[in-house]
Amino acid sequence: MTYQANPKFSIPVTRTAHPKTRPADDSLSFGTVFTDHIFVMDYEEGKGWHDPRIIPYEAFSLDPASSVLHYAQAVFDGLKAFRGKDGEVRLFRPRKHAERLNKSCERLCIPELDVELVLESFRRLVDVDRDWVPSKAGTSLYLRPTVIANENFLGVRPAKAYTYFLILSPVGPYYAEGINPVKILAADEYVRAVPGGLGAAKTAANYAASLYGAEVAKKAGYTQVLWLDGVQHKYLDEVGTMNIMVKIGDEIVTPALNGAILAGVTRDSILTLMRDWGLKVSERAISIDEVIEASKKGTLAEMWGTGTAAVVSPVGELGYKGQKIIINGGKTGELTQKLYDAIVGIQYGQTNDAHGWTEPVVKG
Ligand SMILES: *Cc1c(COP(=O)(O)O)cnc(C)c1O
Repeated sequence: MTYQANPKFSIPVTRTAHPKTRPADDSLSFGTVFTDHIFVMDYEEGKGWHDPRIIPYEAFSLDPASSVLHYAQAVFDGLKAFRGKDGEVRLFRPRKHAERLNKSCERLCIPELDVELVLESFRRLVDVDRDWVPSKAGTSLYLRPTVIANENFLGVRPAKAYTYFLILSPVGPYYAEGINPVKILAADEYVRAVPGGLGAAKTAANYAASLYGAEVAKKAGYTQVLWLDGVQHKYLDEVGTMNIMVKIGDEIVTPALNGAILAGVTRDSILTLMRDWGLKVSERAISIDEVIEASKKGTLAEMWGTGTAAVVSPVGELGYKGQKIIINGGKTGELTQKLYDAIVGIQYGQTNDAHGWTEPVVKG
C-alpha cells in the first residue's frame, strides 16, 4: 500500500532550532525518550477540531482547573513504526488504531476526530522525525496519540474544549534475550473492568483501576495479573494490559469482545493469521476452572498475552487461589513463537504482507 500526503489537510511544520542528541539503539528501553517534534490540534465547542500543527516537542501549560486533571476524560492509543533492513519505515495497521481512538473518544464523550486527519498526523510526524526510527533488530518507534479534555471548569459534564496530541518515542526490543515466559496471578479480588464500564475503551481510567491489583500480584512474586470478569470473578478477561489466548488441545480460545475487553489490534492480527493457517479458533467465554481442568487433564498446551508492546507474551506459570499451574514446562510454546515470528516478519517488511497491514511512511 502506498500513500501520498493528503492535500486536504494543511499541517504547518515548525522545526526545532535545538535538535536533541539521539540515544544509541543499544540504550533504548520503553517510553523514556521522546523525539524532537509533537503534533497538536485543539477543539473548542462551536469551532470543532482546528489548528493541526507540528511544533518542537515542548511542555504543555495546563490550568490547574483543566478538566482532565480532575475527572480523567482522556483516551489514548499505541502503535509502532518499524525500520526494515531495506531502510523503509512502516506503520503497522495505522488505520485500525486511528479508528479505535475514535471509538474510545465516543465512549468518553469526546468529540469525534477525523480518522483521515489522525492518520495524517501519524504519517507526517513520523516523516518529520524519521531519523529517530531506530534500526537495530527489535527496536521501533512507538506512537502515542492522546486526547485530553482541556476546559478550565470543575463541573461534572463532558468538557467543551480538548487537545489532541501525538508524541513519538524510540523503544528498545521488548525481548532483548529471546522471548521470556511470565508468571501471572489470577485476581480473585480486584477487577479491571465490568461490562457496561470502560473496559472496551483505551482510557487512562482503566489503567488507574488496574494499578492496585497489579501491585498485589507483584508483591506475591508474579509479573502480571490475569484479570477475571468483574461480576462473577470466574471468566478470563485480559492479562495485565494485554489480551489473553489459551490453547487447549487443538482449540485456541480467546474471550469474546463482551464490552469489558479491549479490542486489541494484535489480538485481531493473530486471530486472522491463525484462521489463515486453518487452526481452530474460538472467541468465547472461558472460565478459570476450564483452564485448571485442562491443566489437570494435560490438554492445556499454551497460554499467551497479545499487545503492541511485546506482540506476544507467553505465560509460563499461572497462580490461582494458592494453586500453581506450570504451562508447557514454563517455556515458550511452539505456536506462540510461530505467531511472534510471523507478526515481526510482517512489521519489518521481511515477509509477505498478505493483508496489507503495513503502510510505508512516504518522504514529504
Ligand atoms: C492496548 C491494550 C491492549 C492491546 O491492544 P493492541 O492494539 O494489541 O496493542 C489490550 N488490552 C488493553 C487493556 C489495552 O489497553
